Amino acid sequence: MKKKRLYAVPPTFLSNKTVSDLHQLADNELPKILKDRVHQMENPFVQVIVDLAVPKMYSGHIALLGDAAFVVRPHTASRTAKAYRDAIALANCLYCHKGDIDNEWPHWNDQQTREAIHLVQYGKQLAFRSGLGRI
Ligand SMILES: Cc1cc2nc3c(=O)[nH]c(=O)nc-3n(C[C@H](O)[C@H](O)[C@H](O)COP(=O)(O)OP(=O)(O)OC[C@H]3O[C@@H](n4cnc5c(N)ncnc54)[C@H](O)[C@@H]3O)c2cc1C
Repeated sequence: MKKKRLYAVPPTFLSNKTVSDLHQLADNELPKILKDRVHQMENPFVQVIVDLAVPKMYSGHIALLGDAAFVVRPHTASRTAKAYRDAIALANCLYCHKGDIDNEWPHWNDQQTREAIHLVQYGKQLAFRSGLGRI
């Protein structure tokens, strides 16, 4: 029985028709260097790429870090570093403002969201400039 997959299809699970459509799409849409990589792949897979940005990284005493707060495009090569920076900044904030964290949340939030929104935009611009999608 066919399984409907919403976000990802693992290697070897794509039908021949879909692989052929993928090659056609690559030929029509991608710059040569990337088109060649698609054709070289023995077992292509599918992974949906999304941009995610939360309006606020905390609620009450719950904080959202890393991918839970922002998902930026893979070609920025920055997601692990961003998750790490979110955590370090939160640890510093908790350490320095133990008695007054409620007042410090907005400052931590503003700083982290500003950086993350910049990364999200950067990822979109990089994609656009590389012929990989629209802004
Ligand atoms: C195939 C692939 C390649 C990637 N390559 C790169 C790369 O080259 N460079 C880069 O910077 N980033 C890369 N990323 C992205 C990077 O892995 C993530 O951005 C990063 O791991 C996010 O860290 P995180 O701590 O926010 O989330 P995660 O690393 O996803 O950590 C979340 C953790 O929470 C756990 N968890 C989930 N639900 C629960 C629950 N209910 N209770 C308890 N625990 C729970 C999960 O098991 C997981 O261990 C890649 C991702 C993928 C999938």
